[in-house]
Amino acid sequence: MALRFYNTLTQLVEPFSTLDGKTVRMYTCGPTVYNFVHIGNLRTFTFQDILRRWLRARGYSLNHVMNITDIEDKIIRDAKAAGKPIEEYTAVYTQAFLDDTATLRLERPERVVAATKHIPEMVEAVQQLTERGHTYVSDGSVYYRISTFPGYGKLSHNDFSGIRAGARVDVDEYDKDDARDFVLWKAAKEGEPSWDTAVGPGRPGWHIECSAMAMKYLGDTLDIHTGGVDLTFPHHENEIAQAEGISGKQFVRFWLHAEHLSIDAQKMSKSLGNFYTLRDLLKQGFAPEAIRYLLASVPYRKKLNFTFEGLQAAAHSIDRLRNYELRLKTDKFAEGSNPAMEERTHKAIAAFEEALDDDLNTAEALGAVFEYIRDTNTAMDAGDFLAGNAAGALAFLARFDAVFDVLKPSAKEGGLSDEEVETLIAERTSAKKARNFSRADEIRAELSAKGIVIEDTKEGVRWKRA
Ligand SMILES: [Zn+2]
Repeated sequence: MALRFYNTLTQLVEPFSTLDGKTVRMYTCGPTVYNFVHIGNLRTFTFQDILRRWLRARGYSLNHVMNITDIEDKIIRDAKAAGKPIEEYTAVYTQAFLDDTATLRLERPERVVAATKHIPEMVEAVQQLTERGHTYVSDGSVYYRISTFPGYGKLSHNDFSGIRAGARVDVDEYDKDDARDFVLWKAAKEGEPSWDTAVGPGRPGWHIECSAMAMKYLGDTLDIHTGGVDLTFPHHENEIAQAEGISGKQFVRFWLHAEHLSIDAQKMSKSLGNFYTLRDLLKQGFAPEAIRYLLASVPYRKKLNFTFEGLQAAAHSIDRLRNYELRLKTDKFAEGSNPAMEERTHKAIAAFEEALDDDLNTAEALGAVFEYIRDTNTAMDAGDFLAGNAAGALAFLARFDAVFDVLKPSAKEGGLSDEEVETLIAERTSAKKARNFSRADEIRAELSAKGIVIEDTKEGVRWKRA
């Protein structure tokens, strides 16, 4: 079966294709940079990374745009409280976001664009909506009149036909019971940043940012739009009303939404004391790749229950993968190639690919990998896995890691590089040859203190990171 995704718009699993047959034009709602992102946000961004990598593995090229919301109600509130100019305040958290996503090995989208650098495009979008009769002005702010867009509600599958016409909402975030005409352009207020524009002095509403930037870089119709499930309403519903109100064409073909993350089956919140950023977890000594593994291991449309036991289990799974890779690279298998093993490898690759093609079923894909590792380890112990079978197994591991990206350990702060480890091991080997055993023991202790475990084997010294 071909690559397929669950589309929130149609509520169906649909075979995926792009409009032009080659390049995926994709948009992701990025962070609002008023604080560090928490692991719930990072779950969504990790899903997008797995999606990117699997689309590429399936032969597509990517044109992926992510916005940075750097002007918004919460930013204005928190920058004021910190006594800092908005730009200075948002620059810190923009950089922190880029650093955190890089630590988790999330690929950078082809374009990461800041809202404040696209004010003219947003003003033009508001003007176009006005020309087409979708807006009205009240107290200097411009609102979208949702009764002029008959498709309103089609993404969130809400029926808004009975709502009170003319009632409006000024805040960017609200629930579906509060569906009203939403603000496109907010009138300038004392003490708030504003731009002098053709639609009056003020600043953009949150929703218009995404439509304007998505259409500027990706055209009227996108292949994929992603985000957290909480953005479905009102944000994405409003994005559709804006974009389709301007172009008259379908805005997005596939809407993909990632589910929530909970902590110990509870909602993550600062008041419950279970609110974690990536930095909090790294400080507790967890490796970035263990966090990445845990966030990726649950299929994105399932709720992810984050626990510390789960995080430890993720670290353990990575150990098993690395030990297996090490065994493939260093064990001396008997000459020849066992056709049954080749067959087993092909079966594993097919199961892995079929799982990811099935709306990115990462849990099943990992299942295929570990079942294969168990079977081939058993075959190695029995002497049925031969030297000629290793290349296929390593190729499968590489295919897995091109998506999951957890095999290479992250450099620990103050840790040794691979080259430094090799140099110390060579020095230890010479020390032993020279019967300088105290120096050899010293080097082993030094490596161990820095988290490097060495093992003397018939084939020489093996080492790994603990
Ligand atoms: Zn957005």
